[in-house]
Amino acid sequence: MWLLANDDGIHAPGLKALVAAASRLSDYVVVAPDGNRSGYSNALTLDKPLRVEQVDERRYAVNGTPTDCVHLAINGLLPADPERVVSGINAGANLGDDALYSGTVAAAVEGRFLANTAVAFSVTSWTPSYWEDAAEVAFRLLSSLDTLRLPERTVLNVNIPDLPLAQIKGVRLTRLGHRLRASDVEPIVDPRGRRAFWIGVAGEPADSGDGTDFHAVANGYVSVTPLHADMTRYDTFSTLQGWLADL
Ligand code: MN
Repeated sequence: MWLLANDDGIHAPGLKALVAAASRLSDYVVVAPDGNRSGYSNALTLDKPLRVEQVDERRYAVNGTPTDCVHLAINGLLPADPERVVSGINAGANLGDDALYSGTVAAAVEGRFLANTAVAFSVTSWTPSYWEDAAEVAFRLLSSLDTLRLPERTVLNVNIPDLPLAQIKGVRLTRLGHRLRASDVEPIVDPRGRRAFWIGVAGEPADSGDGTDFHAVANGYVSVTPLHADMTRYDTFSTLQGWLADL
């Protein structure tokens, strides 16, 4: 059985598309937030209990974050470990720095303790036009996973261009690029005259050359980036070893 999750919420069209793809390949259960929790990253809810509403035979809605959903599912809600965690399909790209903020990616990362590689899917539009095409891409990728053996704690971050299937040129193995700083926060005045702010949109791509996730989707390819949760900056070790030796 596969565990399906997302960050756009239990009623999101992208989750429906993922269910359409996954249900052709495996038995499944959906555990997803009861509303949109985009941008929740790896947050766990520690200040209130999590409540689970069974929506139908296979779907559960949780009053928590995407990470809560997967954490809850694999640490007690489900009678046995799922064989795989699949997250998405997110409305909006998760490229470069987005992976830090993304609840879609985080839900997959929370499945890193399981034997099989977890996968996060996103489509590169906030208002996608081609859900069925994206679902077909997800189906093809998921149907090939049985033969793939990656090291433990690996997650695949998949970004799909919002294009008809016939216009998608293929699949590229990529690394994360990175973005410039986000746009400024948007100041507003609330109905009671108090100043408030909206967080602005993500920054423009800064490292988006050949080989990056940005480059692949901009050129009509599906981007597949292997991720892991180890944030250690290994290439600073020699500099830091020298510095620490002198302390
Ligand atoms: Mn989202």
